[in-house]
Formats: sequence, structure tokens, C-alpha cells
Amino acid sequence: MGKLKGQRVWITGASSGIGAATALRLADEEASIVISARRKERLEDLKAKIELKGAHAEVLPLNIADKDAVFAAGKKLEDEGGVDILVNNAGIMPLAPLAKGRVDDWERAIDTNIKGVLYAINAVLKGMIAKKKGHIVNLGSVASRVAIPNGAVYSGTKFAVSAISEALRKEVAADGIRVTIVEPGAVATELGYSIADEETRQMVMGPKGFYAPGLEILTSEDIAEAIAYCVTQPQRVNVCEFLVRPTIQEL
Ligand code: NDP
Repeated sequence: MGKLKGQRVWITGASSGIGAATALRLADEEASIVISARRKERLEDLKAKIELKGAHAEVLPLNIADKDAVFAAGKKLEDEGGVDILVNNAGIMPLAPLAKGRVDDWERAIDTNIKGVLYAINAVLKGMIAKKKGHIVNLGSVASRVAIPNGAVYSGTKFAVSAISEALRKEVAADGIRVTIVEPGAVATELGYSIADEETRQMVMGPKGFYAPGLEILTSEDIAEAIAYCVTQPQRVNVCEFLVRPTIQEL
């Protein structure tokens, strides 16, 4: 029997990359999976793949930066019995030097990576506290620990995810709720394409970048496996922090 049979998991940012791979991995554990993102068609395709594995899936499209939409989704999920595990994964990485003054990108990153994470937590937390059970997995990054040039805002948002995770863990430990931050190094996903600044994107995706073609970086499935490990431990075990780098990554 799957280790998550009877548990309901809500995964944000499930339309690609780590979120989609996590949905498929947790389907192997027979979880009932709610998948959110903006691209509904991608979610419908993923739902079909989850169902092929014999697990239950529900598509819940939303913009994680839209507070009302996230709270409405949370209310719907609570009315249906609540969420056992939240994988708070939606995120963007609009890298660029601060001197370029890409203020709209800064705001999008803060709205998605910080406010979106907080909105999703708020959507499930009261329900988890009432049940004295739950698990919140937030996606941080190596950039939650290290700030690099062009990454001031992205690292700022991921440092914030680290602070939120640690403070939240202390607040709800006595309620039986587990909080985990998973911190990947470079993973081959669509994330690099969220760099709107052309020059920075070419640098990051080019031959000398973190995501250079041919580099043996992590796969989404590698991180899905890390998340699966965290959420399938016995209730007494809280994996608080899970840092995974590609072997070749020094930073
Ligand atoms: P992808 O770009 O492949 O996936 C990002 C997901 O977030 C997509 O499903 C996207 O869906 C969703 N998303 C983005 N903005 C919003 C929004 N406003 N509302 C709802 N959903 C949104 O990237 P990854 O899988 O790599 O990223 C997942 C997480 O992992 C992120 O938090 C990222 O910061 C983190 N991470 C990734 C690393 C990497 O190297 N790839 C390294 C370290 C951390 P849609 O566009 O359909 O809304």
C-alpha cells in the first residue's frame, strides 16, 4: 500500500518542473492530489497522468499571487475535508542586476515567492491546527543560503522562505504540524525562462551558466524524491531542512 493512502496533498506550481514531478511521485504513494498553477491545460494533462497511476487528482487553477483566489481555494479544500500536506512550490526566478531597475520583476518575485507562499500557508494552517496534524513543505533554494550577483531579489525571496519556514515550524510544532524547507541547487526545469532580462537569461542558460546545456544538473524527479522522503516519514520525524545540490555544483 502507498505510504500516503488517504492523505490529501495540495501542490502549487504543478504545471511543470518540480511541482509536476512531485505530483507524479506522490501519486505512486497513493495520495489524493490537488494540483494548482495558472496553466490549466498543463494541469489537465498531469491529472490524466496521475489517474493512469491509479491515484485521485483534482485540478485547481489559480494565480498564487492573487490573495482572494488562494483563500477561496483554501476554503473550498477545507470545506471538502482539508489538506494533509501542502507542497508550497510555485515560484519564479527573475534574475538581473539591481542597477537595471527592473522594479516590476522585483514585485512579481515578491508577490509570487513570498506573498504566494504565505497565502497558501494561510489557506491551510487553521485547518491543520484544528486537526493537530499536517505537513507544509516550502521550496527554498541554495539561494535561501547564498546571495549571488543578479540574484539579490530572488535570494531575498528565498531567504524569506527560509525565515518563514523556521519561524512557522517553531509556532506549530506543539500542534503536531511539520514544516520542511527543501533547498535545491540547479534543476533542469523551465525556471530559467522566467528570467525576463535577456542578457541575464543568456548568461545563466549559456555555456558558462548554471543551466548550461550538457551540464549534469539535477532533474525534477531528484527533488520529487527528496520531497517524497520528507513527507513519508513517521509523524515523530520532521525533516526540517533538505539541501540537495548537483554533485558538480560548488556554490
Ligand atoms: P518551473 O518554472 O518549471 O515551475 C514553476 C511553477 O510555478 C510552474 O508550475 C508555474 O506554473 C508556477 N507558477 C509561477 N508563477 C505562478 C503564479 N503566479 N501562480 C501560480 N503558479 C505559478 O520551475 P521549477 O520547477 O524549477 O520551480 C519550482 C520551485 O523550485 C520554485 O519555487 C523555484 O524557485 C524552486 N527552485 C528551483 C530551482 C531550479 O534550479 N529549477 C532551484 C532551487 C529552487 P504556471 O506558469 O502555469 O502558473
